[in-house]
Amino acid sequence: MRTVVGWCKEAGIDVAGVTKATTGMATAALDYEECGAKWIASSRLEQLERAKAAGVKLPLLMIRVPMISELEDMVRVCDYSLQSSLDTLKALETEALKQDRTHNVILMADLGDLREGFFEKEELVDVAEYVENKLDGVHLAGIGTNLGCVGSVKPTEEKMLMLCDWAAAVEEAIGRPLEIVSGGATSSLIPLFDGVMPKKINMLRIGALVFCGPMEDLRTCYGREEADVLSDEVFILEAEVIETNTKPTHPIGELGVDAFGQKPHYVDRGRRRRAILAIGRADYGDIGDLVPQLEGAEVVMASGDHTIVDIEDCKEFIRVGDIMRFKLRYSAILRLTASENVTIKEKGR
Ligand SMILES: *Cc1c(COP(=O)(O)O)cnc(C)c1O
Repeated sequence: MRTVVGWCKEAGIDVAGVTKATTGMATAALDYEECGAKWIASSRLEQLERAKAAGVKLPLLMIRVPMISELEDMVRVCDYSLQSSLDTLKALETEALKQDRTHNVILMADLGDLREGFFEKEELVDVAEYVENKLDGVHLAGIGTNLGCVGSVKPTEEKMLMLCDWAAAVEEAIGRPLEIVSGGATSSLIPLFDGVMPKKINMLRIGALVFCGPMEDLRTCYGREEADVLSDEVFILEAEVIETNTKPTHPIGELGVDAFGQKPHYVDRGRRRRAILAIGRADYGDIGDLVPQLEGAEVVMASGDHTIVDIEDCKEFIRVGDIMRFKLRYSAILRLTASENVTIKEKGR
């Protein structure tokens, strides 16, 4: 996070450190604070509450557009939120006045990724004017966008300029500058790396890159080498071996569907030694998100509670009771930190 904050600082950008990938580990929030992030952000209120309880002093930012039913808690727990509905903003005004607080909002612009946000510039400007002039408990702190998510839209220079154009339209309508123009998440570092990030963008909300480093999409999907200086071992999964029998690699019998209703393709590689681990898809999701640290090991298949690793080509001899270690991609970290079967051991804090 210190490295990421450094990159952003050079471009005049403050970082909101996003903890949701860790299921809101308080130590992640405390580390972010120490590393120079300016906000602690998460998609779940209880995770922000945990950061607060751990003594985080930074302002807290709710980055999943809130449910009306959680506004009471949200106003109590955090100072900032992303917003994309007038109804919610009106309900937020009522709640903020009731609690005698001012809540800061960042109105979201949907620039084509098709998740949260106002889709038309005029609508966003109208709502911004409404918040500015009609709501007393809600402060319009800025506007923002999110890209590279459900719609996989790239945060190009063009999209960043579009956000700046929307921000300028809001500023003209309300007659003052906005404090925040929030250009996106980890993927929005691409225009920053390319040196084309417009000056007006002054906040990014970063999580994934900090936990995955070169295992993150910036490297694996966009081939960006900048992230190679970051660690890809922030989280390591340790799993215990419960069987190491040698077996055929192709199932024997009439094939139907697997435990998840799928019809996988099995490659017949003859008989091979395979370790079974006492952890499964119930804990981490997809086998593709585990990367064995042991050379020659290959994760081949898994059910909810078992993971089968081909260890035939490993130089090290694996026995029942041994621990195998894996680097993790984003969604495995997200799930494993939330699994009640997994113990989180923290080093160095
Ligand atoms: C998850 C999320 C982020 C952080 O994304 P990363 O890819 O983890 O950096 C930022 N903003 C919003 C709105 C999010 O939902």
